[in-house]
Amino acid sequence: MEGAMNFRQFLLFAGCLLWSIVATADWYTNEQAIMGTVIRTELWSDDPLTAGEAIRLVNEEMHRIDRLMSTYKPDSEISRVNRDAAEKPVRISAELLDLLARGIEMSRLSGGAFDITYASIGQLYDYRAGVRPDEQQIAAALPAIDYRFVELDLDECTVFFSRHGVRIDLGGIAKGYAVERGVGILRAQGIEHGLISAGGDSRILGDRRGAPWIVGVRDPRNSDRVIARLPLIDEAISTSGDYERFFEEDGVRYHHIISPATGHSVSEVRSVTIIGPDATMTDGLATSVFVMGLEDGLRLIDSLDDFEAVIVDRHGALHRSGGFLPPQQ
Ligand code: ADP
Ligand code: MG
Repeated sequence: MEGAMNFRQFLLFAGCLLWSIVATADWYTNEQAIMGTVIRTELWSDDPLTAGEAIRLVNEEMHRIDRLMSTYKPDSEISRVNRDAAEKPVRISAELLDLLARGIEMSRLSGGAFDITYASIGQLYDYRAGVRPDEQQIAAALPAIDYRFVELDLDECTVFFSRHGVRIDLGGIAKGYAVERGVGILRAQGIEHGLISAGGDSRILGDRRGAPWIVGVRDPRNSDRVIARLPLIDEAISTSGDYERFFEEDGVRYHHIISPATGHSVSEVRSVTIIGPDATMTDGLATSVFVMGLEDGLRLIDSLDDFEAVIVDRHGALHRSGGFLPPQQ
């Protein structure tokens, strides 16, 4: 008879049910290409529906942030700012205003090494196509790099560029911000153990069920080699490297981190990894320290509570900030 179950079928059904209950308390992972990078979400859940919904919401949030902050999208809020803010104050969302304020704060903290107006020259590069500005173009655009040209009106929620030719880009903090927001979503969904990464920026939620998460720092010149393993719980970790987006011409490496002082890509160090309690901060600090170089960079990190650094210098040697437990090799 259709619809009824014999005893054998019942056993099979019960067995499947039991198996699915046991098997669904598990780690779930998902990878999506968003924001020009791979967004990886890993989480522990005892319910596949909760896990699936959390992953969906995280990816949706990444798309939303990309629409807000991508300078490649002509209709993004930031593109509108870049088009109009030298003409008149542009009204922006509270979220973008807050991010611009955080970018400017990072400029102050880093003595100008971090500067969202780096894009006044940064926009002239196309790393994939191997295109770079010549010295004349750099000299012409360099005067437009200075975060002090970005005037925020917190009451009116507007941004104004007090000089023509200024361009801004939040690429130095966007991914950190995105993974921080993503982990906020996991938390709101009741998830207690997870990790979200966007390229070199990761935000960890909780531990890995009884053990720390182990995040590897890769060798900047050999993507298969890990040079340090950092055990982390409930922390953010960001790496800025000269190997992420670059091209070489006549033995010179042109990459995506630009010195606001010279307009050229910086080659003081090969990679900077920062750990700390907030991914927007670790992202911005990694970019900052990369520009500042080994000594000034370590001094900055040592002056901050809660943040530590692992730096690979230009010769490939490993350095770490004062408060660090020795990295596990
Ligand atoms: P990614 O995670 O994309 O590798 P990083 O955190 O290493 O990024 O920062 C590099 C990005 O920061 C660049 O792609 C660019 O968007 C932006 N950037 C480059 N130079 C600076 C700078 N001096 N100040 C602020 N942002 C910068
Ligand atoms: Mg950064």
